[in-house]
Amino acid sequence: MGDRMFRLSNVYKIYIQGEQSLTALSDISIEFQKRGFVSITGESGSGKTTLLNILAGFDTISQGKVHFDDVDVSTYSEDDWNTYYCENVGFVFQEYNVIEQLSVEENIKLALDILNIDDETKNKRIEEVLIKIGLSDIKDKQVSRLSGGQKQRVAIARACVKHPKVILADEPTGNLDYDNSIKIFEMLKEISRDIPVIVVTHNNHMAYKYSDRIIRMADGLIVRDTFLDNKKIELTITSGDSSEVIHDYDELSVFVLSHPNEKNEYRVNVLKRELDEIEEIREPRDSHDYTKKNLSKKSILKLSKKVLEMRKIRYIMSIGVFAITT
Ligand code: ADP
Ligand code: MG
Repeated sequence: MGDRMFRLSNVYKIYIQGEQSLTALSDISIEFQKRGFVSITGESGSGKTTLLNILAGFDTISQGKVHFDDVDVSTYSEDDWNTYYCENVGFVFQEYNVIEQLSVEENIKLALDILNIDDETKNKRIEEVLIKIGLSDIKDKQVSRLSGGQKQRVAIARACVKHPKVILADEPTGNLDYDNSIKIFEMLKEISRDIPVIVVTHNNHMAYKYSDRIIRMADGLIVRDTFLDNKKIELTITSGDSSEVIHDYDELSVFVLSHPNEKNEYRVNVLKRELDEIEEIREPRDSHDYTKKNLSKKSILKLSKKVLEMRKIRYIMSIGVFAITT
């Protein structure tokens, strides 16, 4: 109870354009705790940004209730909303939204200028965050001269410097390469030890490596809400464009049977998450790949069952493409 930050009850978001209406969120009921790393995944158009914008207070709901710290936000005054955006929420965008003409430090300071705190505290906080996010060496550099990864770190520093109650990030690594994405996820992970970090991401591998919880959306609905242990094997099965995390043999069977595909090819990725000692992880394409041909459906199920039972896999390991010919 005291551990709950957000509570959404039967939330709908319906966009009306002329005669048409579009249900972007449909009967969403969900809670978010006061710490931890939550990933929101799902195909484009599934409602991820809409959900995040509602948590951020950027958008209003059509129906239902949103509680923040046990207060119904529909009772918020204009002042309450100002406090909410300026103090409580740190938002990180895919496109960084940093001010190119200003220096790193000036960008970060902007977030504090709207807060009612003295200069000494401001400077102390800026220094702290520069160190924490690893930007001290480039604090005087103009942002336009930084790489994408560095700009996103500035954006994270700017979000953190106000000591928000929550960090919300909409595809923060969408424009970044693998190495930079890892750095950003590690930073967000670190932050999530103190406050909740809720991240919309397309990157399933990062999501599974760093999240304490993964919420999957489709067509405005939450179709899966998974709490992950710190040390746990995750198995993702893919058929064409569909991909699902599976937890047991039954879920695996259901997926295989409900996603027949032309070539009967399924890809299974296994990863062991070791969040306490963040390990080097390899991209799936570098990892061990092998193909088994002429496997019956029964033997792929058997093989995958074995994998699910294994407890000694390190790193992300791709089990490769199974060609099932029946
Ligand atoms: P995602 O972030 O998962 O890609 P969004 O939350 O952006 O999805 O969008 C969910 C659905 O709502 C989509 O069908 C999108 O076209 C629609 N939508 C989003 N914003 C608006 C808007 N301002 N007006 C009308 N429809 C919108
Ligand atoms: Mg989006």
